[in-house]
Amino acid sequence: MRTIPYGRQHIDDDDVQAVAEALKSDYLTTGPRVGEFERAVADFSRAGHGVAVSNGTAALHAAMFALGIGPGDEVIVPPMTFAATANCVLYMGARPIFADVTPDTLLLDPAKAEAKITDRTRAIIGVDYAGQPCDWTALKAIADRHGLATVADGCHALGAEHDGKRVGTLADITVYSFHPVKHVATGEGGMVLTDDPALEERLRNFRNHGITTDARTRERSGMWFYEMRDLGYNYRMTDIQAALGTSQMKKLPAFLKRRRAIAARYDQAFAGTRVRPLAVRENALHAYHLYVVRVPNRDEVYKKLRENGIFAQVHYIPVHFHPYYRERLGTGEELCPAAEAAYDEILSLPMFPDLTDDEQGYVVDKVLEAV
Ligand SMILES: *Cc1c(COP(=O)(O)O)cnc(C)c1O
Repeated sequence: MRTIPYGRQHIDDDDVQAVAEALKSDYLTTGPRVGEFERAVADFSRAGHGVAVSNGTAALHAAMFALGIGPGDEVIVPPMTFAATANCVLYMGARPIFADVTPDTLLLDPAKAEAKITDRTRAIIGVDYAGQPCDWTALKAIADRHGLATVADGCHALGAEHDGKRVGTLADITVYSFHPVKHVATGEGGMVLTDDPALEERLRNFRNHGITTDARTRERSGMWFYEMRDLGYNYRMTDIQAALGTSQMKKLPAFLKRRRAIAARYDQAFAGTRVRPLAVRENALHAYHLYVVRVPNRDEVYKKLRENGIFAQVHYIPVHFHPYYRERLGTGEELCPAAEAAYDEILSLPMFPDLTDDEQGYVVDKVLEAV
């Protein structure tokens, strides 16, 4: 039986060629291909600076470090996300505070976020869930009013726009992942974007042990000297990964076009049925990392799809439901009712550029049969 995943990468011969060239070059890591990839992603996102790191989780960690988040601080996060969005706050010894999402989009509800602000709050992390940007106009206004930093977890949203402004320009810091299910694949990989040169410098140091000069700068100046000023990590991306990333970026416009076409076809197929896609805000240009629907009998639909080789997924179990959070932070039921209600009904259907029309038709048939 054929199987259809919910997401997967698209790799061409020219991607393979780009990686092969990197492998035969002088630098496997900390070479020129990393900077090229950073430029490609930052330019595409219309952001000033990009700092490539080893994965999206490292990118979130670096963002928290760059903002100086520490013990005693609180950072507001939505629960409808991958655990890493909240974990990065814990890495810094600070406390993630869950604020609920808007029921129709599952994006952080600005009013709910504002209600959670205390004198310990330092930042708001908005997740551009499924590929749709948060209401960054509202979130920014709240952050400005209270003197908070904003971080966009844009792992789903490379190429999305809010009010004609691209993800990468909407928050003080934007974070991407290049895991194979995301828009652009590097195997493992991530990036942090910012317009602020001071934040950029902190991000660069953090990914390299907190050391203030990198290997190439030292090589150029012929100096053995370096010093460690912060407790950083080795979160570097290799040139092999960056070569793949730059090659993938050339295909991103085509990937986005195909994802949007698949979404339009799902929208049409489910109109007037018991399968309810999430709402898309009027001023949003969606990037469709995920195509999420709500169905009344989710577990049954999930099971039926699986029996037919369709591997749909649930994004996400609310983060505050995980045992670690329940046990250490005392979170649990009724903390975020909209996210919790959605959790019972949501399903991410196959959404990736290589999904064929035939496969999509088969998915639609099986979903409609199962509801
Ligand atoms: C994928 C993802 C991450 C983590 O990225 P990795 O590259 O897997 O570490 C963080 N947040 C969200 C919303 C994601 O989808």
